[in-house]
Amino acid sequence: MLSINENFLKLQASYLFSDIAKRVAAFQAKNPQRDVIKLGIGDVTRGLPQVCVSALHKAVDEMAEDATFRGYGPEQGYDFLREAIARNDFQARGVDICADEVFVSDGAKCDTSNIQELFSTDIKVAIPDPVYPVYLDTNVMAGRTGGFVDGRYQSVVYLDSTQKNNFVPALPAEDVDLIYLCFPNNPTGSTITKDELQLWVDYAKQNKAIILFDAAYEAFIRDDSLPRSIYEIDGAKDVAIEFRSFSKNAGFTGTRCAYTVVPKDCAAYDSGGARQALHPLWNRRHCTKFNGVSYPVQRAAEAVYSDAGKAQVRELTDYYMRNAELVRKEIGALGYDLVGGENSPYIWIDGKANSWDFFDMLLNRAGVVCTPGAGFGKCGEGYIRISAFNSYENVERAMRRIREALA
Ligand code: PLP
Repeated sequence: MLSINENFLKLQASYLFSDIAKRVAAFQAKNPQRDVIKLGIGDVTRGLPQVCVSALHKAVDEMAEDATFRGYGPEQGYDFLREAIARNDFQARGVDICADEVFVSDGAKCDTSNIQELFSTDIKVAIPDPVYPVYLDTNVMAGRTGGFVDGRYQSVVYLDSTQKNNFVPALPAEDVDLIYLCFPNNPTGSTITKDELQLWVDYAKQNKAIILFDAAYEAFIRDDSLPRSIYEIDGAKDVAIEFRSFSKNAGFTGTRCAYTVVPKDCAAYDSGGARQALHPLWNRRHCTKFNGVSYPVQRAAEAVYSDAGKAQVRELTDYYMRNAELVRKEIGALGYDLVGGENSPYIWIDGKANSWDFFDMLLNRAGVVCTPGAGFGKCGEGYIRISAFNSYENVERAMRRIREALA
């Protein structure tokens, strides 16, 4: 008899987006004349930057000719992209990351999921609440979390992000080994300062822990004092792995390209207590299980780093940030406490009500779809997330309707 991995049975069914879809469908069936504005999901809405489209076209043409055709590429990514990433995202900011520490992939979702394979299953994992659910669920599948009791997994150390700590969790009271951090944060939109992040790096050094730093929303940072990379923090190269993505800066959610930085200095320990570098482990894992991102997509990602690419990405993210500013202004004027939207495309609003009740109220009274915070964890209860990924006109209409419905 073949046994299954019973850890999968511990997963809590995620009804969040299907529940939202069901409620929206029911509303539309009852109110066919009303249009619904969706500010719920975290998917981008605007077309790819022109430089990326041109690079894609050119690369596809190369693929059509025997002389320029490319088959399997290097699993870690082509040098042209790894070098552009290291130069522009790190070295240009005074951060000493080399091209061979960059692993190109088809998504930060896969990378933040897969990275935990490098670590033993009997470690203590610290996960933020509320959270991008992938960090939690992949540790459930791997058997690190224990059972689900009273809304939480018994063996996970939850890092509560609340109004009290300005949505930046405090260091855990107990020793932990693997720490997930995400800034600018999904879902709260909160950011972390260099001093706050230094505390985490120091903690990781002291406790021989590793920080998994998800910087998928780095391109939305507008405050120059905020860290764009964890490697701007002293000592981070020894204890941190960073995840980046082209999904939200350049609109690659459907094109698929991201990368993970595993510095050569970054190490964990074997059962005998000897330091083991993580770079060769991740390299081995990546090469064994992944066959590279397609050549045209890597050329499109490389184009992001051209002068025109940088300008076009800035224009794209500025567009969404203008939406975020409008949401902050309008919802704030209605008297709600909120965070995010200044260095992030997400606005996290204290609805002063049950998350789903607030969701239903916005849908029924204003025809606007948001995401109930409770779907991201226990600490999300009472909040809703509004995403800036939509057209400015739709955000304006949504805010007008919310103002009329709630004023
Ligand atoms: N990390 C965070 C925090 C996200 O919110 C998302 C997507 O929404 C991802 C990673 C996934 O990024 P990718 O599209 O590169 O898989």
